[in-house]
Amino acid sequence: MNDLQPIRFPGMNSRRPLVIAGPCSAETEEQVLRTAHDLAAEGISIYRAGLWKPRTKPGGFEGVGVEGLPWLARVKRETGMYTATEVATREHVAAALEGGVDLLWIGARTAANPFAMQEIADALRGVDVPVLVKNPVSPDLELWIGAVERIHNAGIRRLGVIHRGFTSIDKSLYRNHPMWSIPIELHRRLPGLPIFCDPSHIGGKRELIAPLSQQAMDLGFDGLIVEAHCTPDCAWSDKAQQITPQTLAYICRNLVIREMSVTTENLTELRARIDKIDDELLELLARRMRVSQDIGQYKKEHDMPVLQAQRYEELLARRAAQAVEIGMDREFMRTVLQAIHEESIRQQMRILGRE
Ligand code: PEP
Ligand code: MN
Repeated sequence: MNDLQPIRFPGMNSRRPLVIAGPCSAETEEQVLRTAHDLAAEGISIYRAGLWKPRTKPGGFEGVGVEGLPWLARVKRETGMYTATEVATREHVAAALEGGVDLLWIGARTAANPFAMQEIADALRGVDVPVLVKNPVSPDLELWIGAVERIHNAGIRRLGVIHRGFTSIDKSLYRNHPMWSIPIELHRRLPGLPIFCDPSHIGGKRELIAPLSQQAMDLGFDGLIVEAHCTPDCAWSDKAQQITPQTLAYICRNLVIREMSVTTENLTELRARIDKIDDELLELLARRMRVSQDIGQYKKEHDMPVLQAQRYEELLARRAAQAVEIGMDREFMRTVLQAIHEESIRQQMRILGRE
């Protein structure tokens, strides 16, 4: 995918981050216009509003549909902003393009479905419109890349992605777990693909929008898509996570944008130190695996099972507690140990001839 073109529109400055903002849903003409005027006054130049709302359960507000298209056209006319909406079917694509919407995004539930993605891709063939693909609800990088590839194969070159977090079985601070390693790996695989962060859907609450936006900037994301509403407490969907245009502007003004291209001598030296430590880590892991193989050999000779659950549980608990004492995250330590343990088991299974 080395033929991508930038998402920017004519007349827009090239500062990072590119901010897309607007309500979760277009509700009424008045709410759409008022929010847009307030955002435009704060210097935001791309307006988002959902017309077709994919709701987890029936009965919620499912969007105003095509009725909202003339409202978005008025936003363009009156504020000069560019407009964006979510599309999930070929009919949505046709209606949005016909209605003059400038940018389309594909939601997390749709991105998880290859049939729906292909239908949208087919509807986009021959059209030059910027498209952003949200991550699928499950933490499945290949599914996300597949969704992007379908749109790319349809000829779309102004293409990007939105990281909106992943459904997780663990209850956590977030509505959708950020699992930053996934967008980071996506960037490693497709370095030219712009990545937007959606702190509203990751956080699920207003207070998390500023810290999540800052984290995204620190990781070098290209832009943000944030839910903003003229009266957030009265929003018809996602009200806990919507902020006023004024609050959004305040958050944006306070973001620290780090220069991605500067590398100093110091950094080179620090990176060399990291590389050295990684070499040592690898060597240590290899040594650990060799001991693990010896244990596998012993278990084979004594007809013992490979997995000894109690020992493993003890090891996880002890090391996770130790990690916390020295300033590391418990979950991080558990993840590292689980990965190491999985490889140990694989190596022992090989010795037992079960692989
Ligand atoms: C939205 O952007 O309002 C939305 C429905 O988001 P997601 O697809 O990320 O759940
Ligand atoms: Mn929403």
